[in-house]
Amino acid sequence: MNTDEVERLLGRILPTVQKPGRYTGGELNQIVKEWSTIPTRMALAFPDIYDLGMSNLGLAILYDILNRQSDVLAERVYLPWSDMEAAMRQANLPLYSLESKHPISEFDILGVSLPYETLYTNTLNLLDLSGIPLRGEERTGGHPLVIAGGHAALNPEPMAAFIDAFVIGEGEEVILEIVRTFKDWKTRQEPRGTLLESLAQIWGVYVPSLYEAHYLEDGTLSHIETRSEKAPVPVLKRIVPKLPPPLTRFIVPFIDVTHNRVPIEIMRGCTRGCRFCQAGMITRPVRQRPVAEILDAVEKALAHTGFEEVGLLSLSSSDYGPILELVRGVNERFAGRHLNVSLPSLRIETFSAELMESLKESSRRSGFTLAPEAATERMREIINKPVSTEQLLDTAREIFSRGWHTIKLYFMIGHPSETLEDVRAIADLCKAVLKEGRRIIGKRAQVNAGVSTFVPKPHTSFQWVPVDATDQIQAKQELLKKELRGPGLKLNWNKPEETLLEAWLSRGDRRMGEVILRAWQHGAKFDAWQEHFRYDLWMRAFDDVGLNPDFYTLRERPIDETLPWDHIDAAVKKQFLTEDYLWSLNGRTRIDCRERCFACGILPKYADLRRAHPGETWECPEVRSPRHKSHAKDHLPTPA
Ligand code: SF4
Repeated sequence: MNTDEVERLLGRILPTVQKPGRYTGGELNQIVKEWSTIPTRMALAFPDIYDLGMSNLGLAILYDILNRQSDVLAERVYLPWSDMEAAMRQANLPLYSLESKHPISEFDILGVSLPYETLYTNTLNLLDLSGIPLRGEERTGGHPLVIAGGHAALNPEPMAAFIDAFVIGEGEEVILEIVRTFKDWKTRQEPRGTLLESLAQIWGVYVPSLYEAHYLEDGTLSHIETRSEKAPVPVLKRIVPKLPPPLTRFIVPFIDVTHNRVPIEIMRGCTRGCRFCQAGMITRPVRQRPVAEILDAVEKALAHTGFEEVGLLSLSSSDYGPILELVRGVNERFAGRHLNVSLPSLRIETFSAELMESLKESSRRSGFTLAPEAATERMREIINKPVSTEQLLDTAREIFSRGWHTIKLYFMIGHPSETLEDVRAIADLCKAVLKEGRRIIGKRAQVNAGVSTFVPKPHTSFQWVPVDATDQIQAKQELLKKELRGPGLKLNWNKPEETLLEAWLSRGDRRMGEVILRAWQHGAKFDAWQEHFRYDLWMRAFDDVGLNPDFYTLRERPIDETLPWDHIDAAVKKQFLTEDYLWSLNGRTRIDCRERCFACGILPKYADLRRAHPGETWECPEVRSPRHKSHAKDHLPTPA
């Protein structure tokens, strides 16, 4: 179908659907290049609706990097909402790019962002709506190369059948190497298998079809075999040694999207070591951007977009070393410009009175979110988030006394060894915080408790532990519903079935791919949307395939079991995770490793990279011990 036909059909369909602004493109700062003169064309997809996808910083960065190349063009694609999908299917309108309205199947490469696992059925829907065969093995040289990246790719196995190549780790540099490799291959007109082998040799790229999984009789993984000598084992995650200057030319949507703001990443990685947190482990090492660079970027981004809010983003924004200097700098430089500043992830320990004073000038938010994650000090030691209840209450007092009236407290239930008493303590803690608020600002004080259920994630210290069974989760939630109510208190929770879905998908092996496919065929999509999620479809899919869902969730995995993601090296050593898990059983905690390095494995694996980029950008202390130096030689990344 040519672009004129796409436009003609859109003209008919758009007046009949909700929010047509999702489907038109044409926004400020979009980049449209001359299709016929550019040799390599890439579609960048977020497999959910525009409203969510437009706030994805990773794709915005890749869009900018690719479009800076004179011989590459990158365009965007999101999933249509149900009404638009029905209209498109009825009109036989394939999924198209927002910029030039070319069908996605005409692009050379389709890059899919997978920040979380509940996007998997949407990814199949995306391929189907594009007319691209779902399974990699069914694609020929005439189909786009389908690549994927994002945090969920750190266990790529459940999606192995559908994705040609995964980017493991950070995509900023690797994306250009993929495009160059593709371009060379296209020029040489070689078979598709040659392209896949060449891609596998790029540091940080995993090509699943070059690996085969073998299982033991009990259903656990025996080993992963490589089908080509060009396929490395393990595949070490890619990192950028120094964060490049932040993106400033953001596309400005016509409609309201999830975050209408300039997102500036101030720091990447986390050194805290919370044992449940996958993002904290897989994004190490910590790298900070200089204050001056961030301030300049805010200035430019405001000029380019006209946004009135800036988000200073990181996994833990108050851990950014010069955070006070940064917030004060923003206040000074943008005084009188009505700029609203948000620091979305604040830690209780680094949330100082000075920071609050500074934020008061530039934050128009009515509340703050704090994440103690557990309510008893015993539990917080087990999960390695050792803040004291007194620290939390102090912080709450500071917040209320400075004029804010809502505090959102974020908890998880289902941590290893949790009892009903630990759960009841969540209600007690929320009430204690509310009491402080009432004392300071009276009845305006409000405490909202968000209680999710813990899913043990790959590459974390808790990767071996089971998920709570449905009846355990229900009992804990019932207790909270009974205890945590009354004026000024609000409780939010997830359905246990949503937790189980996340657990199957994130902890699954290659066989889960068949379950995902069946679930999608039965109608599963938009699984991350409560109103769309259908547990029964997933149960039918497990039944069809003959797999037991409990195998992936309720089972405690022995320390020596081969895990489905063991051949993916997130750079933190399995030995470190094992030791840390054993420490948790004894309630032993680790301090922020910027104060004391625990030799998690990062430094020896990237020793050469760091030597090539000396300076202050990494927060890990220098390695001095001779033992580390000799070890480094064995772990050099595969050259790009
Ligand atoms: S190498 Fe040391 S300082 Fe760096 S992330 Fe690992 S434990 Fe922390």
